[in-house]
Amino acid sequence: MLQERSRLGYLGRSREDFAPLANEPSAHVARKHLQGEGTTLSGIRYPQAVRHRISLNGEAAMAKEPKKLDALFHDTLKDIYFAEKKILSTLPKMAKAAQSEELKAAFEKHRGETEGQIERLEQVFAIIGEKPRGKTCAAIVVISDEGAEIMEEYKGSPALDAGLLAAAQAVEHYEISRYGTLRAWAEELGLNEAVELLQETLEEEEATDEALTEIAKAAINQRAEAA
Ligand code: FE
Ligand code: FE
Ligand code: FE
Repeated sequence: MLQERSRLGYLGRSREDFAPLANEPSAHVARKHLQGEGTTLSGIRYPQAVRHRISLNGEAAMAKEPKKLDALFHDTLKDIYFAEKKILSTLPKMAKAAQSEELKAAFEKHRGETEGQIERLEQVFAIIGEKPRGKTCAAIVVISDEGAEIMEEYKGSPALDAGLLAAAQAVEHYEISRYGTLRAWAEELGLNEAVELLQETLEEEEATDEALTEIAKAAINQRAEAA
């Protein structure tokens, strides 16, 4: 009965509908379903909105104040903090895989910059009085998976570097979007010191993106000459 009930779906149902479930002996089955567990994409559990609505012990969630811009800023900071750490672990693999010395050097340079970017984020956490903590960023996990797939599938191919460049630029564009947003929100929240830190990183990401474009262009010209 429980499972049947949970299969009916949770959207649009009132919290009271779920309250009796908490007292059922196998309520954890229903809870898992309600929390979206088992729905994975690269091991990510979602949807979060559902997890927020139903508290972990299955009771109806307490009515809360709607979250505001400062909470959104903090959440997005956690997102990019997770992403930067992921990128830090991926860049050495990309440098190792790259065929051209120029691309290798670009990845190594950006690895060093990424360490500094993580430190800046930690400073921003301090500014808002929070501990630096990451929160799984599904986008960066999937973009990284795509990069890993290219490394695997184009190993030894002359097209490998083109694939690595494309993967790296997808990462930079994600970061540019996040830092642009965070910077704007920091301004709105009056966090002037954070604005400067986020702006500095934003400029580094943009410069990296441009450097990658230059490497890609040079490689395209080389291929055209060779052909
Ligand atoms: Fe970065
Ligand atoms: Fe994200
Ligand atoms: Fe970057």
